[in-house]
Amino acid sequence: MIVLPDMPSPVEATAANELKKHLDEVTNASFIIVNESEADTSVPLLVVGNSELAKSLLPSVDANQLSYDGIVVETVGKNIVMLGHPTRGTLYAVNTFLEEAVGIRWWTSTESYIPKTKTLKVPSMHIYQAPDLIYREAFYKDALKDEAFAARMKCNGDFSKISPVYGGYHKFQYFVHSFYNILPPQDYFDNHPEWYSLIDGERTSHHAQICLSNDAMREEFTENVLNTLRVTPGVDFISISQNDSAEDGRSCQCDACQAIVKEEDSESGPVIRFVNAVAEEIEKEFPEVWVETLAYRYTRTAPLKVKPRENVVVRLCTIECSFSEPLRDGEQNKALRDDIEAWSKIADHLFVWDYVTNFVSYMLPHPNLHVLADNIRFFIDNNTIGLFEQGDVYCDAGDFVRMRNWVISRLMWNPDLDENKLIEEFLTGYYGENAAPYLLQYWNLMTSRAKESNVYLSCYMGDTSGWLSIPAYEESASLMAKAIEATTDETLKKRLRREEIPLKFARLLENERFEAYEQNNDNTTSVSINKEEALSEFMSLLEEFNVTMIREDFTPNANHVEWTEQLLKNKLFTR
Ligand SMILES: [Zn+2]
Repeated sequence: MIVLPDMPSPVEATAANELKKHLDEVTNASFIIVNESEADTSVPLLVVGNSELAKSLLPSVDANQLSYDGIVVETVGKNIVMLGHPTRGTLYAVNTFLEEAVGIRWWTSTESYIPKTKTLKVPSMHIYQAPDLIYREAFYKDALKDEAFAARMKCNGDFSKISPVYGGYHKFQYFVHSFYNILPPQDYFDNHPEWYSLIDGERTSHHAQICLSNDAMREEFTENVLNTLRVTPGVDFISISQNDSAEDGRSCQCDACQAIVKEEDSESGPVIRFVNAVAEEIEKEFPEVWVETLAYRYTRTAPLKVKPRENVVVRLCTIECSFSEPLRDGEQNKALRDDIEAWSKIADHLFVWDYVTNFVSYMLPHPNLHVLADNIRFFIDNNTIGLFEQGDVYCDAGDFVRMRNWVISRLMWNPDLDENKLIEEFLTGYYGENAAPYLLQYWNLMTSRAKESNVYLSCYMGDTSGWLSIPAYEESASLMAKAIEATTDETLKKRLRREEIPLKFARLLENERFEAYEQNNDNTTSVSINKEEALSEFMSLLEEFNVTMIREDFTPNANHVEWTEQLLKNKLFTR
């Protein structure tokens, strides 16, 4: 019997429904949901949500005092209590129970493992968890398809748009680069050119910034921000952040702004002083709202004197990072690491925009799997409270994107989990026991190639030549082929054929490299191809797996499939 409070919140009701739905499926029984005043306390109960019954069973726990998104799953006598922080904790508690006690795994929005048993034996549960990251977003297509799945992955970012019954999401007002959203040049520049960047002696609003030391501008800017918040309910984060423009940002060169830059030894000085002043006014009326700003490109270095206010969150980006080695100690990442650590010394709250795919093409192998977990831990160790993991959001295929979403989401919730165990669990559970040993070898090979080649693995890689030698490619292709051969189940086979796309793409794209290798090695490799057939097979794979975009691209009517075919034809048949 599942027991809810007499007046359950929408998210508590959803949690009870999710519990019933899954337990019914596992046991082939029909669990009933009752309100606590109707509950028969002589039988074992699954107590869901912050009811009087839950309080009497767990007097030491006050759900309203739990940390943000915090959960409790606790066995009390013959009963199990599942509750959490009011926003969505109870749903997370139930999902955790279904995973940890029942053994359910939600691999994707449509594919899961649900054990079947008539008699469900549940171990004694004592789970108290709360994430350090209050904002968790894995930016993958499947992650955003279904709000129930997003809640199961415990992601709550702005793009998920999860409805209140599934716990809602962190709403952002503006999404970075917002100076001109808040102070539009078309409204203000003619009357107040002095509110915008002074560049080479002239005020301009062309791909530039605002004059951050101008007090009259700041007053108008603050008023605009407050007015926006007054008419926009439910905002959790408001972005007050520099525009995206040239490397130097085209920031203001006026004497007053530059005096601050000098004093603070960084262009971030004027930005943080300005954002602090606006954030102080926001706090008076909207104490719950976080004010987010960027430390990006020309402002990436922390200021010398000013510290971000308590309600300010500084967002750093890993766009310059090398993903073949961890941020924490990799030689290639020293400059970025130094900047993040410097910010964490002066700021209690950082936000990280992390890049976890290859933005040249989702279709290429991208061997960054070994750094994902430690980078998440590094961010958290450095005061990060929000993480945006930008992955392959425009494509369903790619380099093991479902596994990446699953692993990343779990680590954002609990970075103490062992990533190697997570990877092994996913490979075994999702692709099958027969394929998993080969896939593990495949990933070990990819990882060791990335590490040993010492490649600077940026998030913009045009090909694999910097890290994947032809013999290593042959080995990886052979492992993938063995995984497929060892698999008889057609559903699992199809999943594996989809994950073969990146290898096949690399083979075609880099044909010249393969042919040169062949010529130097007695015309033999295990991966020689019939070019026409291989291209045609590859194009049908894209069609079969519904690949329409292979990278981020906002050009109207862009046809990535045609474009890809033409590119590969040029690579294969033009000399
Ligand atoms: Zn200025």
